[in-house]
Formats: sequence, structure tokens, C-alpha cells
Amino acid sequence: MKRALLFFAAATILLAQSNPDWDREFPAFKIAGNLYYVGTADLAVYLVHTPRGNILINTDFPQDVPLIKKSIEQLGFKYSDTKIILISHAHGDHDAATGIVEKETGAKVMIMAQDVPEEESTARGRPGAHVDRVLHDGSVVALGGSKLVAHLTPGHTKGCTTWTMPVRDGGRVLNAVIVGSPNVNAGYILVGNKNYPTIAEDYVKTFAVLKSLPCDLFLGAHGGYFGLKEKYAKMKAGAANPFIDPDGYKAYVAEREQTFRKEWERQKEHPGSPAP
Ligand SMILES: [Zn+2]
Repeated sequence: MKRALLFFAAATILLAQSNPDWDREFPAFKIAGNLYYVGTADLAVYLVHTPRGNILINTDFPQDVPLIKKSIEQLGFKYSDTKIILISHAHGDHDAATGIVEKETGAKVMIMAQDVPEEESTARGRPGAHVDRVLHDGSVVALGGSKLVAHLTPGHTKGCTTWTMPVRDGGRVLNAVIVGSPNVNAGYILVGNKNYPTIAEDYVKTFAVLKSLPCDLFLGAHGGYFGLKEKYAKMKAGAANPFIDPDGYKAYVAEREQTFRKEWERQKEHPGSPAP
């Protein structure tokens, strides 16, 4: 009985968190310069193309790998040219297939130190990847003339990472920001969290970091953060690059911070009551 209830609770959480766009196909496209979108309709995967091979940010769920491969090939690139795998954070919707992509391509997996145990875990739904390089706040990942910086933006996970990269696009350089996640998920405990005592302070630090980053290209781990579908439609219609959205980035970070602070205040008043 207890087992059945636990199973039911776990299934309910999974259902509550899933979204029909997670596994839905989405056109592959160039965002700017050598930065491409190869993810699903919501689970963002980015490809950085260089003369030395490609960097992939996020791998999504195992069932999404065929879509990612198809997207890479539609752009004229080779899945087997994947040299480095990075992630936004160690949750299954972004990294469950990391071990699979690592095995299939021989790419090096580079992960923020605090998310390494989750990345190497072989528990159900975890990727069981071998981490080749442990990253820290400010670590640089370089390949074929492209340079990405890993910013530790913890809270959502202990090693949640926001990636930045200068993208050369025509005659200009655009600062891309790929937000790791500023979100307080259902069930998260911000006050008196025994497994993660500094969680609330970590979110506070994350918002300070996000506010400090210069941003032209506003991107993130989920398409929903930055309006992927709407912006892609505008791009198709011939608008000036809609992903260049510094104001949208600032507004998003401000709104997410307010939402976090409101929930933190609520939990201070009702200790032991997790996020709805
Ligand atoms: Zn997550």
C-alpha cells in the first residue's frame, strides 16, 4: 500500500512537470553566427559549430536523441563531430541522454563540480555519464576559436550553470546568455532544507549573477524562458533577429527574482511547506 502510494506520488510529480512540447519536434535553425538551435519545441539544445568540431549544450531525454541527431544533420553538420557536451543543469529534461551521446560520439563531458555526482549517478533517470572535466565558476570551455564561460548559478540545482559566449555575427559581436534555470520547482524547500541548507542564499547569488551579465542574445534551458516559438515565427517572417532581446532578458530575470522572493517569504511564514 505504502509502495503504491509512493509510486502514485512519483507519477503525479512526473506528470505535473511534463509538457507536450518537451518531446515535440522543432525546426533546427541558426540563432546567430556559429550558434544553432537543435532542441525540441521546449527542451533547448544548442550547437556551437567550430572548425575543430562541435559543442553541444544539453542532451534532453533519451527519446529526444533521434530528433537532436536529425536537427544536427539537417543543418549540414555531423553528429559524430560532437567533441564536447555541456549541460544547463543536472535534471533529466536536460541531461538524461548525456551518457548515450557521450558513448555514441566519444565527446568529452564537462560539468560544474556541484552537479558531477548527479551526472555520474546511475540511479533511475540519471545519465550515468563519465565526467571528463570538472568545471568551476568562471571556467572557460574553448574549441576551434569559440569560448564559452560557465557561470555558477545555483539553487535550482547545486551546480546549475548559465553559459555565456561572444558570438561573431557578420560585423558585430553579440553576447549570448543561456540561462541555466532561475526557477523554484514544485516541492522545493527554501527554508530548513536539510539536503541543501544554502538553497535560498544560492538563489539570491544567482539573481545577482544573472543581473550582472551583459546580454544581447537571450536564451535558456527551456524555450519557454525566452519565447522560442514566438521568436522563431518572427524570424521566419523576416523580422530583425528577435533573439537579440536585452530588454526581454532583464524583464525575465526581474520577474523570476520577484517570484522567488515571494515564495521564499511564504515559506518563511509557513516553514515545512514546500513550493506549490
Ligand atoms: Zn530543472
